[in-house]
Amino acid sequence: MATDQEIVLLVKKHALLNATTHDGRADKGAVIGRVMAECSDLRTESKLVSEIAAKVLSEINSLTFGQQRSLLEREFPETVQAEIQKKKDQSKRDSERGFELPKLVDAKVGEVVTRFPPEPNGFMHIGHAKAAFLGSEYAKMYKGKFILRFDDTNPAAEKKEYYDAFRDSFAWLGIKPDLIKNSSDDMERYYALAEEMLEGGYAYICTCSQEKMRELRGIGEACEHASQRAEENLHLWRKMISGDLGKSEATFRFRGNMKSLNTTMRDPVLLRIIDTPHPLLGNKFFVWPTYDFAGPIEDSLDGVTHVMRSKEYELRDELYHAILNSLELRDPRIIEFSRLKLQNTTLSKRTLGKIIREKQVQGWDDPRLPTISALERRGFLAEAIHEFILSMGVSKVESEPTWDLLESFNRKLLDPIAKRYFFVPDPVKVQVSDAPELQVTLKYHPERDYGERELATHGTFLIPSDDANRLKVGSRIRLIEAYDIQINEIQKSGIILATYKGEERTADVPKLQWVAVGEEYPMMVKLPGPLLQNDEFNPKSLQSINGIAESAAGQIKIGEIIQFVRFGFCRMDSPGTAIRAHR
Ligand code: ATP
Ligand code: MG
Repeated sequence: MATDQEIVLLVKKHALLNATTHDGRADKGAVIGRVMAECSDLRTESKLVSEIAAKVLSEINSLTFGQQRSLLEREFPETVQAEIQKKKDQSKRDSERGFELPKLVDAKVGEVVTRFPPEPNGFMHIGHAKAAFLGSEYAKMYKGKFILRFDDTNPAAEKKEYYDAFRDSFAWLGIKPDLIKNSSDDMERYYALAEEMLEGGYAYICTCSQEKMRELRGIGEACEHASQRAEENLHLWRKMISGDLGKSEATFRFRGNMKSLNTTMRDPVLLRIIDTPHPLLGNKFFVWPTYDFAGPIEDSLDGVTHVMRSKEYELRDELYHAILNSLELRDPRIIEFSRLKLQNTTLSKRTLGKIIREKQVQGWDDPRLPTISALERRGFLAEAIHEFILSMGVSKVESEPTWDLLESFNRKLLDPIAKRYFFVPDPVKVQVSDAPELQVTLKYHPERDYGERELATHGTFLIPSDDANRLKVGSRIRLIEAYDIQINEIQKSGIILATYKGEERTADVPKLQWVAVGEEYPMMVKLPGPLLQNDEFNPKSLQSINGIAESAAGQIKIGEIIQFVRFGFCRMDSPGTAIRAHR
């Protein structure tokens, strides 16, 4: 049987645990429940336990949150440790569950090669991250190799800065390819194979106009060039690659099947003349392979075993295999997954590029965008993006997750590590009469050992206008970690007069963050919202709010992600300007 002293200790421990997880107020019923659960013998002593609980709770509930927390840490350190460990284990379990990818077919440890082939015609976005994570994750799972290959064979669309942007985003996401290469490294190879196809009768050079080609493909009829002899084809081909033919004067077409129901197979163009200089190779080449041609060749010759790509390429699979078969090259296995969509945004580099060119947003890292650099700038962690993507797995089923889901992964990771600060958006002044001068000690994090700061108060405070607007004469509020006040008067000017009620602790009062006048650090917070609304650019996609943060906020480093209490997780973007990731 427990002694009274032991019961007091047990009650105290659970009261502190309950209070510190419930805004500073322990609930008697909940505490007694926990006590009985830990020590079932006490069920026969419920009256005694209830008496002790009443006494202990009245003491503990009169302490500030900070005092409760330090008491808990001081008197029950092993409980605090166990609590932290429990949270860690839980999040580890959660993440491990999310990370389980289904096995690959035909995969042997040490032999799997995957790749991610972005076109450097824009910045990396979260849809690319899905393809890249899946590729690299599978390579890791089978101790294989993962290739980052820039599919850069359309010089009209590609730019040097986009290669770099992809590399930067890869580095930030923590994806390490075993090899980085460019499709354009292999131009000679494509030319040799193209020639081989012409010689073998698998392709021909077509000089039809674009309109005619489109028309004939539509009705499933071949043009006269389809039956051209190999010598004629080779002759025209040489003219093409030596620059003797102009832009739309000739194309290299695969001899497919003009009657195929899969229109991809109706003699598709595999190489075409492009006269724009290439970002890496300049004017060295005039004839460039399409993705349909370069893709399978690269995959095959680079030893890729499992080609992972988003489902919209499905109709092109037949062509992919046909090209490799005609060249007698090794034919990798293709694995398809659904293309990631995200609500109220676009995951198309082309559309993003258009919004940027039209100056509707400020650039590829504008915090409203779904690009990796924008997500970074906004305060998302790479790990949150990783977990978000892997939680969706490799299913082919289309889904359109919301930003909320991505945010919930981020919040879960940030909450245990982000420092807390007070920020008062659109502040209103409160003058408290008879207020004591106080030094309030606030920890930067309720659980972490991030240290603390002292806030001096002398009765004049700033509180958020949003909260102030809801106040009436006679209502009470708690200035978090300071004291309770009662509203006496709301002046026309907006200034609020209040009285000090610190000696009383009112139950269930709204608890507000505050900044003492004289301790202000001005801060502007940008609030990115939905980029699109009904598929149109949302002109209100970026709002901002001016406010006052506590003076310690001046020490937040650029790039640091913190939590503004009751306002949200924000990343410091430049001195005095933060961007809110989410609440
Ligand atoms: P964009 O319109 O953004 O240019 P894309 O598919 O043309 O899209 P690529 O640079 O060609 O872009 O894409 C590289 C790889 O990324 C492709 O293999 C594709 O499977 C994959 N990918 C692109 N967008 C998504 C997405 N939203 N979800 C999943 N995978 C994607
Ligand atoms: Mg593309």
